Amino acid sequence: MEELRKLAKELLENKTVAAVLGYVEIEPKRTKPIVITNPEDAEKLVFNEYCLNNLAVYLTKARIKNLAKQNGSVLKLGIVAKPCDIHAIIALIQESQLKREDVYIIGMNCGGVAKDFGLEYGADTLASKCVPCETHKPLYSDTTLGAEKETPKVSDEVLDKIRALEKMTYVERFAYFKKEFDKCIKCYACRAACPLCYCQRCITDKTIPRWIESSPHSRGNFSWNVVRAFHLSGRCIGCGECERACPMDIPLSLLNRRMTETAKEAFAYVSGRSLETPTLVGSFDVKDSDELFM
Ligand code: SF4
Ligand code: SF4
Ligand code: SF4
Repeated sequence: MEELRKLAKELLENKTVAAVLGYVEIEPKRTKPIVITNPEDAEKLVFNEYCLNNLAVYLTKARIKNLAKQNGSVLKLGIVAKPCDIHAIIALIQESQLKREDVYIIGMNCGGVAKDFGLEYGADTLASKCVPCETHKPLYSDTTLGAEKETPKVSDEVLDKIRALEKMTYVERFAYFKKEFDKCIKCYACRAACPLCYCQRCITDKTIPRWIESSPHSRGNFSWNVVRAFHLSGRCIGCGECERACPMDIPLSLLNRRMTETAKEAFAYVSGRSLETPTLVGSFDVKDSDELFM
């Protein structure tokens, strides 16, 4: 913790960064995001198993780039990032939403986070995204902090559920998702929490023509959730923030994880892992197999 605070203070004092995005503890086992511009406030920063938010979402949504414009010169933004959050930053760079030189990544070694605030951290309360995690150390960072850690060993419930769904017939699977999507209240919290859902104007907000019903009813709910899953296909970095944000407990990771597994199996591609690799869609080749679409 001390090394994080010291680094953030130095970065702000010597104007390497205009602001640091990080976490502050608001009560035991609960944190919230904070934007620090005053070096003295670096004392507030924390990093622990309750730093659940993926702060990369703010790199595009909150337009905080404006914060980095000081005296006519553009400074970097510092961001405290878990390895999975760094995947989102990499994906945003891959998709030309951000330049590598725009951010100073304070990468944190990570042994996992809790499913939710207030829970005693342990194997039973590990966030589902942490079970299959293969990157406890940042793949990219400007500075890496913290001791290297292991995640508690538990079974991958999401993968088990995906495999169970795959054993269902098409009709059963359709019925399963229809029932889940019927619960959707169209609050769009999943979209707001997703670092890769950055369109200035989402297809759901377009009214001429209206592609997707805005009211929460069965037909529009299905379109919304399926369209979103397709838009994230091969792009989702698996941070699980959409599912965590969903007030109706819709198992969105079942769709997103399945799409990620498909991209991995078919194209050996996982989003947000390499600055040298183009996006999956950006690397389309006419010789690519169309087996998936037959
Ligand atoms: S997915 Fe990996 S990097 Fe992300 S919080 Fe879990 S253990 Fe940490
Ligand atoms: S779709 Fe969900 S899991 Fe994937 S990047 Fe967006 S918020 Fe994260
Ligand atoms: S967060 Fe859940 S309820 Fe809200 S729009 Fe997304 S899927 Fe629907």
